[in-house]
Parts: sequence; C-alpha cells; structure tokens
Amino acid sequence: PSLRVGTLTAQIMEEIKSVRKTGFTMAPEAGSERLRRLINKGITEADLLDTAKKAYEAGWLNMKLYFMVGLPGEEAADVEAIIALAEKVRGFTKRRGQVTISVGTFVPKPHTPFQWEPQIGIDESRRRIGLLKKARKRRGIKLKWHEPRMSFLEGVFSRGDRRLFDLLICAWKKGARLTGWSDYFSLTPFLEAAKELDIELTDYLRAIPEDAPLPWDHIDTGVKKGYLLEERARAYALKRTEDCRRGRCQGCGVCDFKTIKPVTYIKRDEDQDLLHPGRSLFGQGKQAHTHHYFYTISYSKLGDARFLGHLDTMRAIERILRRSGLPIGHSRGFHPHPLIQFGDALPLGYESLGAVFSVGLTDVIICKKLIERLNSHSVDGLFFLDAVGPRPRKTLIKLKKRRYYLWWRGIDSIRLPLEETLDGDIRIKFTNTISFFDTRLPLPWPWNQKGPFCMVSTEDNERLRPEKLLATWFERRTIDVRFLRTLVVETIY
Ligand code: SF4
Repeated sequence: PSLRVGTLTAQIMEEIKSVRKTGFTMAPEAGSERLRRLINKGITEADLLDTAKKAYEAGWLNMKLYFMVGLPGEEAADVEAIIALAEKVRGFTKRRGQVTISVGTFVPKPHTPFQWEPQIGIDESRRRIGLLKKARKRRGIKLKWHEPRMSFLEGVFSRGDRRLFDLLICAWKKGARLTGWSDYFSLTPFLEAAKELDIELTDYLRAIPEDAPLPWDHIDTGVKKGYLLEERARAYALKRTEDCRRGRCQGCGVCDFKTIKPVTYIKRDEDQDLLHPGRSLFGQGKQAHTHHYFYTISYSKLGDARFLGHLDTMRAIERILRRSGLPIGHSRGFHPHPLIQFGDALPLGYESLGAVFSVGLTDVIICKKLIERLNSHSVDGLFFLDAVGPRPRKTLIKLKKRRYYLWWRGIDSIRLPLEETLDGDIRIKFTNTISFFDTRLPLPWPWNQKGPFCMVSTEDNERLRPEKLLATWFERRTIDVRFLRTLVVETIY
C-alpha cells in the first residue's frame, strides 16, 4: 500500500493485511527535514520513522521509499540525508528485511508554485544519483532510479510550448515509439528532431522569470497565479501551508463552496434506507466480505457523454460507484479488484439507451434505491435506468442484439419508405419520425428531431458499425462523423 504518512492506524493495517501484504511504500520525497519543509510535504522524520516501525511490527519486511533529486534549494547534505533516512528505517527491520530507495529527478510542473524553477540536466541528475550510489553502504538497502534522460524529456514536455508539436511529429517520423516505456525509450529521435527544427531543448529546463508569459497562461484551472507566487515565497521561507482538506481554506481560488469544495468522506447515515429489511449495515461481520450479491445495471449514455471512450466510461462508473458509498465487493486474489464487469464496448461517439454492467455488492440493496443513489452521484450524460438482482453469481454479459438509429444530414434525400434486409440478418429501414419518451430519463433530451432517420438492427454482430455499413451502401468512402448521431435504442443480452 501507499498511504499518507501519519495516517496509518492499527485498524488500517489489519484491513490491509486481510487482503494482501506485499511491500510497504512511503513517499518522503526529500531526505532532510529542511527540504521537506521547503516542498511543503508536511511530514516530520519522527512521523516517518513511527510509521515505518508500525509497519515492521505489523509484519511487513520490505519497505519502499520514494525520493527526488534536484528539488529547488537542494544541497549536497540533502542528498546524503536520503541514505541516512533509509538506514534509520532499515534499522527497524529484522535481518531479512529490505529497504528500496526509489529516486527520480524533480520535474517542475505547470500550475504549481515551482513552475518557474529550473530542472537539473542529465549530467547533474546522474551526478546526484551517483552520490547516492556511493553513500549506500549497508546491506539490505537497494537503490533504484528513474532514467535521467527520460526525466529530461519529461521536463521538456512538462513546460513545453506549441513548437513541441512539430518536434513530436518529427521525432515520431524518426522512429520514436512507446517512449514512456523504458525498454523502448530512446532520446536520439528527439535530439535529431530538435536539431532539424532548430529547437534548443535545454531552454525548456531553465528557470523562468516570474513576469514572463507562460505557454499555459490561457488555461484557467481556477488557481490564481498570485497564489502560486505566494506559495513559492512561503516555500523558500520554509513556512508550512496547511492542507485545506484538514485545515482552513488557503484561498487558492478553486472552490466556489457551492458546487466545488473539498470533500473527504461521504456521510453514511442514510445507508440503512438502502438495505432490505433485516439486513445488517454495510461491511459488518465477516460474511459481508465473503458473500457477494450481483446486480445487472442498465444505463444510458447520452449527449456529450458519447465522447467518453469505453475505458473512460468504465472509470467514470467506477468513480460513481465509489462516490455513492455502495458496498462494492472485491475479488479475493493477491491483488483484489472491484467486482465490476462491463458489457460490450460502445464505439466512441455512439449514444445508448441500454448499456449494461454488473456489480457485486457485499449486501442486498433495494434496486430502486440503488438506482437513485447512483443517479445522485452521476455525471452529465450517464443516467442509470434499472437494476436487476441480486443474483448469487455473476452472469456473463454477452451481446445478442442491438438496434440503432442514425441521424445524419447526408441521408435526407432518400425516398421513403425504404427497407432492406442484408446478409447476416442486418436490417436497414428509413423512417420519417422517431420519438422517444422514457420517463426515467432526465429532460431535455435532443433525440426528438426531424428525420429521416435510419434504423439498423442486427443480431449476434457486436462488431457492426452502422455508419460504415451505410457508407458502403451509399458507395461513399467515409461518412463525416460530425454530422452523424448514432443511438443504440435497444440492446438485448
Ligand atoms: S478550500 Fe478550495 S479554495 Fe480553499 S484552498 Fe482548498 S481548494 Fe483552494
């Protein structure tokens, strides 16, 4: 696990140990107390050592510590302090224990108080990692580092400007592929591209004057530049800024305290209403963790949500489930994962009235309340329609039939009515009007438009792309997707 230092309680340790106990990770970021204060890490050495001691006492043998070299204001003593801290942590272990120091080079990021700071170059990064290699003497301390050439490139793109678009294309033409993977990484195509385009890459690593315009000035994250400058000054004065999730607001500018405000927990008082009568509260008792109740949930994906790809949709739904505070079950393996299974991927750009997923819960929930709870934590365009369950086992979600409606400006000259059945049971039919009225859906909903519409239905053909089918039918090479809306009106599993 990777936990905030100082938050590890005996109860949390017991919970973690009940599922797995691999390595234990802490991120002090800097070796010395002074530098941790400068970067506002808010952790003292005493906190770190106390957490490490508790972890060893609870049975962890392997500890991983994350650090950075090249932080603003770093001195040689701060680099040496990394080893000293690791040795103190190693001191708690029994003979078999191991401490791994994982070190990366500091990369200044836009929209942070350190966005004006310089980044150390490849040679300096190697030199500082070399100091760590030399200082590491004790057995049981292992050193790993992030490749300095990779950090160099990250630094270039982190604070890059629009000229880097050409650089990226040029490097790609010169063979740069999967650059983020260490086994494929090569700096050469980027250096060659920079030379060809007359771009000096090291310029992107320099300190930036505070009054200089920044390439990301037009992006408004809500955090004011003045606030970042104040924070930078506070960092150099070693003044701590409190975490607003636990302390007072620092006035960074992000929150309006109506729709945006810090939220650190969901109150559970209303959870009892969700349960079938006679059930215990979520998560109580051992049975709650070993028995799962599976629900199949259908949802609509409409409007701008059609631009969420399948993976993003999965992530959004997982977050909604977590935010809703429902008792999601987890697999029992070495790496437990939430028991959520999605139906077939909906192609990007398609809307749907009947996408489904299945989720395993650790308690029996009233279906209507389950849907209400999900909708109250959902985002625009994702609307939950029905829940079926509970079932004792998960059922395979296999697509049998889909019916699509397409609305596209280019087909308005078709003579109606027109109907045709193609090979493989694919039916195409044009219709002048369609109107959907589903009381479960939030209004307004933009599909009640003037036709003609094209209806395509298919069985057992999950790979069918109606727009491609129509393009072939009309003998056009492509259909301009800007003018096309595709809606899955019916899905049968
Ligand atoms: S509470 Fe909101 S506005 Fe205040 S510091 Fe935190 S994020 Fe910024």
